Amino acid sequence: MRIILFGAPGSGKGTQGDLISRRYKYPKISTGDLLRRAVREGTDLGKKAEAQMNRGALVSDDIVEGLVRERITAPDARKGYLLDGFPRNLDQVRSLEAMDGGRPELAIEVDVDRRVLIERLQSRRTCRSCGAIFNLLLKRPGIEGRCDVCGGELYQRADDRPEVIGKRLEVYEEETRKIKNHYREKSVYRRVDGSGPVEAVFARISEILERENVGREREQDRR
Ligand SMILES: [Zn+2]
Repeated sequence: MRIILFGAPGSGKGTQGDLISRRYKYPKISTGDLLRRAVREGTDLGKKAEAQMNRGALVSDDIVEGLVRERITAPDARKGYLLDGFPRNLDQVRSLEAMDGGRPELAIEVDVDRRVLIERLQSRRTCRSCGAIFNLLLKRPGIEGRCDVCGGELYQRADDRPEVIGKRLEVYEEETRKIKNHYREKSVYRRVDGSGPVEAVFARISEILERENVGREREQDRR
């Protein structure tokens, strides 16, 4: 099973991805994580990606696809995987199908009201050292301005600044309209209400996954 998880910036899909990965044992492949590592390590792809993100743009397809291709062909992804942040447009949808076609799939959207998204994004702070994400509304750090995980300095990422947020959401909505239609036509699209506590959203997602027999697959894997 290939699970494609999507949702606007601030929808909480990253957190949901972690929960799905932990319960159902699929590796979570997050383009955000892949990119942050590339940026931190200062690879050529990482440097290019950083320049684009600082302008409020989405990272270009060739960079993202290169990172994803590498990751989904790793041994632990053979049984299935969960994609977070990819595919982001129709070109990426097609290139994913070319990379790994024929695998049963499910495209789940975590849907959150735009007003709530803006509020959440403006409150987001990221650790400069380890990349952990906090939220002044939802997940406050124990000590103001410091990372709970490593003690690093928290800062507001350039793309979480108010002047860039509107643009990000517009780009997201425009691109996902086409992706959603594509997955609707394939009958693999499922919308999940992303409002309310993390546990409530995860319960909604779990219900869908259980219904799609991921649960049974997991039982078989244990034997
Ligand atoms: Zn940290």
